[in-house]
Amino acid sequence: MIRINAFSLLHHNTFGIDAQARQYIEYASEEELTAILPALAGERFFHIGEGSNLLFTQDYDGIMLHSGLRGIQLLEETDADVVVRVGAGERFDDLIAWSVRLGWSGIENLSHIPGEAGAAAVQNIGAYGVEVKDVIERVHAVDLQSGERRTFSNADCHYAYRQSIFKQELRGRYAVTYVDLRLSKTFTPHLDYGNVRASLPEGAELTPHLVRQVITAIRREKLPEPGEVGSAGSFFMNPVVSEQTFRTLQASYPAMPHYATAGGVKIPAGWMIDQCGWKGQTLGRAGVHAKQALVLINCGGATGAEVVALSDRIRADVKQRFGVDIHPEVNIL
Ligand SMILES: Cc1cc2nc3c(=O)[nH]c(=O)nc-3n(C[C@H](O)[C@H](O)[C@H](O)COP(=O)(O)OP(=O)(O)OC[C@H]3O[C@@H](n4cnc5c(N)ncnc54)[C@H](O)[C@@H]3O)c2cc1C
Repeated sequence: MIRINAFSLLHHNTFGIDAQARQYIEYASEEELTAILPALAGERFFHIGEGSNLLFTQDYDGIMLHSGLRGIQLLEETDADVVVRVGAGERFDDLIAWSVRLGWSGIENLSHIPGEAGAAAVQNIGAYGVEVKDVIERVHAVDLQSGERRTFSNADCHYAYRQSIFKQELRGRYAVTYVDLRLSKTFTPHLDYGNVRASLPEGAELTPHLVRQVITAIRREKLPEPGEVGSAGSFFMNPVVSEQTFRTLQASYPAMPHYATAGGVKIPAGWMIDQCGWKGQTLGRAGVHAKQALVLINCGGATGAEVVALSDRIRADVKQRFGVDIHPEVNIL
């Protein structure tokens, strides 16, 4: 177990915000986790992953809990697929690298998304037409109040776009310990999102490894590289509006991109932010990424409050121009 007081979070959040936690505890096993639970009673605490979807607006006066549960284990294998168990503290991208090396598929489109496996299951990460929920079999977790271990089936997790029971009804209640995923031995490529298909090298054999390489290259080109430019990826969620609201908006903005969903019409927040003229602009030391208006960046030394001030200005402008509320996807602490 690692326990550090006055812990600097600077290298523990991809936004590169210089904040401090009163204490940091990293546990190396489920037993260590249950052993520290009594110390959490009555304390403020937060379970952190790699900090790639967080924005610290102040020092954290409490305990930052982190999983040191690592490893990938093969649980089942048939001619068609495998089920693997991954420790919550394992980097999800390392799991993908391992999976494609073995020729297994299902998660290659999620390549180069920062973060750990536990958080991937909490966040239901998604990219290029694939969400991690598509391959999750079970999520194992420990109740941070009672210490009880519980296994959630995929259905129990109530997955939706960037949502799960762990972000809603059970927010902050469970530490995810292990995630079981089903990977396929037969490759069904998903190439029709973004410019994946167009970026494939001509004549090359289509493999999960190739798709991973292509998507990684696209993301490196389009998004700020963690460690080089501070960000948390997409800062806002794409809003879903009613069919009627969409028709009214479309009459004024015929070029407005949109996608039909079960709950209404989804409009890319990045497009609206771009229309408001924010792409590439800065406010203080926070800015809007020049290549993707959905991404807010730390231009160097920004505080969390500066990023929130920029976010508030953008939200107000989008509301004024389109009458649509956009909300941060990022956890603001
Ligand atoms: C450049 C960039 C690009 C990105 N692109 C994408 C993308 O394409 N698609 C996408 O979906 N996301 C994307 N993200 C967002 C981010 O990578 C994901 O949300 C990721 O899953 C966060 O993982 P993390 O380990 O950093 O979690 P953190 O940010 O540390 O935490 C996220 C949430 O998970 C919870 N959590 C973490 N670990 C555990 C655990 N073991 N048990 C219980 N709760 C836990 C935290 O409490 C918090 O609520 C991007 C981020 C960046 C910086």
